[in-house]
Amino acid sequence: YRGERPFQPVAGSQYPQPKLLEQRPTDLLTLTPWLAPIVSEGTFDPELLQDIYRPLNLTVGLTVFAVGKYTHFVPRFLESAERFFMQGYQVRYYVFTDDPAAIPRVPLGPGRTLGIVPIRKYPRWEEVSVPRMETISQHIAQRAYREVDYLFCVDVDMVFRNHWGPETLGDLVAAIHPSYYASPRQQFPYERRHVSTAFVADGEGDFYYGGAVFGGRVDRVYDFTRGCHMAILADKANGIMAAWQEESHLNRRFISHKPSKVLSPEYLWDDTKPRPPGLKLIRFSSLDKNSRWLRS
Ligand code: UDP
Ligand code: MN
Repeated sequence: YRGERPFQPVAGSQYPQPKLLEQRPTDLLTLTPWLAPIVSEGTFDPELLQDIYRPLNLTVGLTVFAVGKYTHFVPRFLESAERFFMQGYQVRYYVFTDDPAAIPRVPLGPGRTLGIVPIRKYPRWEEVSVPRMETISQHIAQRAYREVDYLFCVDVDMVFRNHWGPETLGDLVAAIHPSYYASPRQQFPYERRHVSTAFVADGEGDFYYGGAVFGGRVDRVYDFTRGCHMAILADKANGIMAAWQEESHLNRRFISHKPSKVLSPEYLWDDTKPRPPGLKLIRFSSLDKNSRWLRS
């Protein structure tokens, strides 16, 4: 070390050299067989990513649905997102709701805005589940494609607990479901009836992905949600509702349209589960909700 560096590298910060022969960043798998990174703690350098992504001046959208009693989840969700979700970036929240007046105003940081998008009331959740794929694809076509570069679509009955940053950005992003990361694919709760467009055969499937988190570049999320919506419409015409509704269609589509980045269960956890040793931290997890009260 001679006291002065001859030039300033593009990425300003010092970071450990990647070592081809030595590095073992995490106990988890880090790459899918189609060469998509699987993001978990230890696989990325947050400061280096910050240096690379900050100058791009990106806007990241985040959609949630808050229909009926789920409006109660909005304040905790937004407060936690303000602390942990894409800190230092421009963020645009989109809250889809049947009751705009019930959405409390949460103070937002600079560069962060909230759009409340009214949607019509649905009679009963179990019968007519809110068509999220359809609503999101229409919203992108009408508005979000102009307003954001990347878009994440998540459940509202969740909270951010740790950093969620540019390591999650990619063309098409899926998250591994916290209940099935250790299960053989035959046991994944895919739709198994041939008559459904969400059908998955026993020998198919990579990971079982959660319907509570997906995202990517806004144009790719448009293709993805529209594709799922079309498959759901085809099922509907045949009087079929897939086993896990939109999650079944999401999983079917991710088999033929592979995600370019996969988020480990750090990014989609369920606090009622014991945490396996390989999982170093929890970034986003579901609240223990009394669903009977919520759905009554
Ligand atoms: N949701 C809603 N109102 C409801 C039921 C669901 O707004 O009455 C939305 C909400 O964003 C929720 C998501 O749909 O997070 C998925 O439903 P839920 O979280 O109940 O499904 P689970 O996570 O239990 O599979
Ligand atoms: Mn949920």
